[in-house]
Amino acid sequence: MLEQILDLHIHSKYSRACSPALELPNIARACRQKGIDIVSAGDFTHPLWFKHLAENLAEENEGVYVLRSEIGDQKSKVRFILSTEISCIYSHGGKTRRIHLLIFAPALAAAQKFNQALEKRGVNLKADGRPIMGLSAKEIVQICLAIDERMMVVPAHAWTPWFSVFGSKSGYDSLAECFEEFVPQIHAIETGLSSDPPMNRRLSALDNITLISNSDAHSLDNLGREANVFAFTDYPDITYDRITRIIKTGNRQKFLYTIEFFPEEGKYHYDGHKDCQVVLSPAESKREGGRCPKCKRPLTIGVLNRVEELADRAAEEIPAGRFIPHRSLVPLREIIAAAFSVGVASKQVAVEYQRLVKALGSEFAILLHRSAAEINQMASTPAIAAGIERVRAGRVTARPGYDGVFGVVDVLGATRPPAPRQAALL
Ligand SMILES: [Zn+2]
Ligand SMILES: [Zn+2]
Repeated sequence: MLEQILDLHIHSKYSRACSPALELPNIARACRQKGIDIVSAGDFTHPLWFKHLAENLAEENEGVYVLRSEIGDQKSKVRFILSTEISCIYSHGGKTRRIHLLIFAPALAAAQKFNQALEKRGVNLKADGRPIMGLSAKEIVQICLAIDERMMVVPAHAWTPWFSVFGSKSGYDSLAECFEEFVPQIHAIETGLSSDPPMNRRLSALDNITLISNSDAHSLDNLGREANVFAFTDYPDITYDRITRIIKTGNRQKFLYTIEFFPEEGKYHYDGHKDCQVVLSPAESKREGGRCPKCKRPLTIGVLNRVEELADRAAEEIPAGRFIPHRSLVPLREIIAAAFSVGVASKQVAVEYQRLVKALGSEFAILLHRSAAEINQMASTPAIAAGIERVRAGRVTARPGYDGVFGVVDVLGATRPPAPRQAALL
């Protein structure tokens, strides 16, 4: 069995607010450090990025690409598949809908046809690597299937309030309401950082939907912060069709688990107002009538609240053993930063991170597989292995994110989680 880690949603330097370092050779290098085997090449709708893809990638296996410079280098090379994110803003059923979708293409030729179809409908693809269009989610599925029935559409970060299929400010109450007669073509959703599989599984309507997890990285450091772990038989088994079939069928023999954030760390887990520094649990925001206790305007309703609104069963009622498992992790840089009591962007963290990754294989090797003894042998402080062990056991506390503010996971247990009322006025 060949275990592979896949990150199927990232961006290029041509997407808004993205790092200029997001070019293919750098992405491949960063993936090797992280331990990502297969990564989305991202942003194929952007003309300049498409050119960069066509120049740098060679098809190695059906729908699977490698850097031209890495052809033949079987073991360490990073594999790319073609997927991109688009933003659909349109009116449907008397409401404005703003939905981000992931589009998977089996080859550069199909991706190019998709780009041409959008341009023919007046979409400006040059403005942003994640282009905005007035087409509906349903029209996008229609366009994809007309080009190539192997194309696949997956709603991105399905719960975030402003731009997602279930978003409190932007979306629908069900996939059927959004995709109508095309709903049988929707096999998966991306859970996003602020929700994890157990939250999603509280909706029986999603029982036949596969949950995937990706980084949505806007910088090299964020690659793989969420990911998927698949089992293939060998390298020739890695094809676009196999990858999409694993997603479509949710085959538990092949889809081993997803790698998740603790959902509290996501920036839309709780309800709140960033400018008012107000953060509320769903129960608290209900008590406030969904309005901010400071400014009295409607709160940004987060993912936990929205899941509870649409859920039809309690956590205890989720059928056991039926769904693909998950593992919750905290990025290694954050664990090192906590161990040194310094900021995550500090030099000390960067140096220790590089040293550990070099000595122990990759970030995922360290977070998932290396023993505490192995890590301790290389690390500058035993607090790093201690932090990793706490994360693996789920023994962390968290201050939930809200209204665009990331949550904070305390991996070392130095502070206790704030009491609910204190949390309300940070
Ligand atoms: Zn998005
Ligand atoms: Zn407010």
